[in-house]
Amino acid sequence: MHRRDFLLRGAAAGAGFLASTELQGEPGGSPRNPGEIVIISTWPFGKAANEAALQTLEDGGSALDAVEKGVMTAEADPSIQSVGFGGLPNRSGVVELDAAIQDGRSFESGAVCSLQGYRHPIQVARAVLDHSPHLVLVGAGAREFATDQGFPTEETLSDKAREAYQNWRKKHPDGKGPAAGHDTLGLVLLNSDGHICVACTTSGLAWKHPGRVGDSPLLGHGLYADDEAGGCVATGDGEEITRVCGSFLVVEWMRKGATPEEAIEETLNRIARRSPRGRDVHASFVAIRADGMTGAGSMRKGFHQALTRNGSTEVLSVPAYVDRNPHEDQR
Ligand code: ASP
Repeated sequence: MHRRDFLLRGAAAGAGFLASTELQGEPGGSPRNPGEIVIISTWPFGKAANEAALQTLEDGGSALDAVEKGVMTAEADPSIQSVGFGGLPNRSGVVELDAAIQDGRSFESGAVCSLQGYRHPIQVARAVLDHSPHLVLVGAGAREFATDQGFPTEETLSDKAREAYQNWRKKHPDGKGPAAGHDTLGLVLLNSDGHICVACTTSGLAWKHPGRVGDSPLLGHGLYADDEAGGCVATGDGEEITRVCGSFLVVEWMRKGATPEEAIEETLNRIARRSPRGRDVHASFVAIRADGMTGAGSMRKGFHQALTRNGSTEVLSVPAYVDRNPHEDQR
């Protein structure tokens, strides 16, 4: 079914989209073989994350362990300037990290925001899920929790990030230049039992206001999973993605029968309609539907997905929405 048809059928039927099962075998991805593991993540550095997640499953780890271990690869890599150690700092030169993890079966989740002094915020988010009655801890409270959980504090500002900050301050001596774009690592995993988990980790926007939190650690915005419908993660302008509950919206469209690509396109449309910046917004999503169908979509050029199927992982360029739909009017 083509996107336009999906929309028209949706409009004609009100909320009465096709049942998910009716879409199996439709264009946009093939239904999964029973028991197949499917992993999808954002950006080329997602490849290492997918491979680590797959290895974790093969070693007997849970789906939750796998998404956690997966995204830790980027947190540990100082050459990646948007995640963990190596991430660019806020306008005061301090690295503040955000991360979240969610289990799509139990709906348990954990998140930390504006965490300082820990290279692996996803581990702290996992500890929130496992050991705290709360879902989200921020700033000093998140740090206190991390310390109580026995995580060691570490330097989080890499030499390269410090140099980039110093250069930025030369251009903005008052420390008040605009925040700049970034690339979050988000990962969705479907295991052989049909169980979906998601994780996100980021240093957020470079040069952001201290304490600024984007979509990435917020359930429903930067990530969302429901075993009955699917899972989705986002990257891009966090404020814009948050405004429309981006990842939740993608999962809800899939629940109503949309393919992942259709669900993402509808969500990109919603963002473009709601934002004064229209299609200039940076927003990209990757998703897995409960039947294993995957999809990726991006408002602008340059986005890549890392996709793992049948045990092998490839990085694929994702065409910009406007290039895919050249004759679409702005809905
Ligand atoms: N979504 C992230 C944030 O707003 C940044 C990104 O993924 O580019 O913090």
